[in-house]
Amino acid sequence: MKLTSDYTIPFTGLKIGKHTYEYKLGKAFFEQFEYSEISEGDVYVDIVLEKQMNMMILNFEFEGVIETTCDRCQESVEVEFASEYKLIVKFGDFTETENDEIVVLGPNEIDINLTQYLYEYSHLALPSKRAHESIDECNQDVIAILRTMNYGSEDDDDIDPRWAALKEI
Ligand SMILES: [Zn+2]
Repeated sequence: MKLTSDYTIPFTGLKIGKHTYEYKLGKAFFEQFEYSEISEGDVYVDIVLEKQMNMMILNFEFEGVIETTCDRCQESVEVEFASEYKLIVKFGDFTETENDEIVVLGPNEIDINLTQYLYEYSHLALPSKRAHESIDECNQDVIAILRTMNYGSEDDDDIDPRWAALKEI
């Protein structure tokens, strides 16, 4: 497996067709960003770049394990995730970002820096619920306290726990 830490792909010299890139993003990568929700962990990214005459299609495949805090007990928990994203790069008259999925590069561009995409997609790939798989794996002291606040029961997921706690007052 060839891993590279250079997130800039010079595309002008690439032949028409598919090219693959592999990245391993770790602590050093995410540390560059002030608001990164990822600090400890490894995110593996496989990119297939398909160069066509007037555009490029980049398919990103993410697979990662990160250490974060549990939504329920606030202790450290390992969360796994996997996701795919597609970026379309068009060659146009000037450089502009159309949306999250389409970017246009002007005639003077010779490479594309993927740093921001790798960062944003990694965060998009994170599951919204980050918690220990079972409540039994959580810090039981915290769970006990939460239970007294009428929070922590797996059954009342449909009630916002903050509202449930308020009702008790
Ligand atoms: Zn927990």
